Amino acid sequence: MTGSLNYDSPASLRAFLDERGLGMRKKLGQNFLINPAFRTRLVEALELSPGDDVWEIGPGLGAMTWELLAAGAVVRGFEIDPGFTLYLREEFGGRPDFTLVSGDVLKTWKGEKAAPYLLGNLPYNIAAVLLGNFIEGKRFFRRLVVTVQREVGRRMIARPGQDDYSSFSVLIAGVYKVKALMTMGGASFYPSPRVDSLGLRLDLRDEALSLPPLPLFYPLVRQLFSKRRKTVKNSLCSFVASYGMVKERSPKDLAMAALEASGIRPEERPENLDIPQFRSLALELQTRGLAACCTCRFFA
Ligand code: SAM
Repeated sequence: MTGSLNYDSPASLRAFLDERGLGMRKKLGQNFLINPAFRTRLVEALELSPGDDVWEIGPGLGAMTWELLAAGAVVRGFEIDPGFTLYLREEFGGRPDFTLVSGDVLKTWKGEKAAPYLLGNLPYNIAAVLLGNFIEGKRFFRRLVVTVQREVGRRMIARPGQDDYSSFSVLIAGVYKVKALMTMGGASFYPSPRVDSLGLRLDLRDEALSLPPLPLFYPLVRQLFSKRRKTVKNSLCSFVASYGMVKERSPKDLAMAALEASGIRPEERPENLDIPQFRSLALELQTRGLAACCTCRFFA
């Protein structure tokens, strides 16, 4: 079950696109995965059972969609390109196990029925924002298998103290256990991007759904990493000050009390804090009266 296109051959894909008057748009991160072994490995990494619901981000011309359907998945594909959506409708439109959601997934996903699994060779330009939006919007998947630009992937797997450790690492690792599956060079894609990609598997942490809500957590993480070489004390004071006075306490008093209660040295650097420490800081600030404002979002 592979459809009528030869997804492994740049020449065939080019001919097909020409025939239809379609182009590949760099700004939409359009790079087809032409390595069949990688396609199979990515879908296998989802460990699907027949009948499982899967969101596929950016099906393109359906190369991965065929693999998903062959695994028995019920697929909801989110695709923005009108030329590709037209083709996807022709190819999969009559099937009960495929639904197409056309348009920008950043706008469409909220209106769609949740699924436990997600697969996507993610468009480079929206990968981090999309994953961040899912987390902030509390749309949690049991498992995701994604391909991202290597730099983004490195941030997703980085640990405290490593150069790539960032606010995005904390955002992801607070909810998912992340495992690198494979590095894919530019030649695995058509057209070939200049940068390598990383295939990653993300598994929902058992505790992710039961943790108490911490509205300050994401704004705090973001602010502290914006000055990662400053001491936690200085960055935290600025963060608290940006909210104004709380119950007659100065920002410095409040910041120091939260640090002490969390067992964090004031001279520590934000880049060395782990997730439980960030959570503890957010909790201690909240219990002392600091409240997140409604516009405080990780991705503005
Ligand atoms: N799945 C195909 C594959 O593996 O060969 C194509 C992957 S390509 C890297 C990314 C796909 O995402 C393209 O089909 C592109 O049109 C689509 N895309 C880009 N931005 C999008 C957006 N905001 N919403 C939905 N789809 C998008």
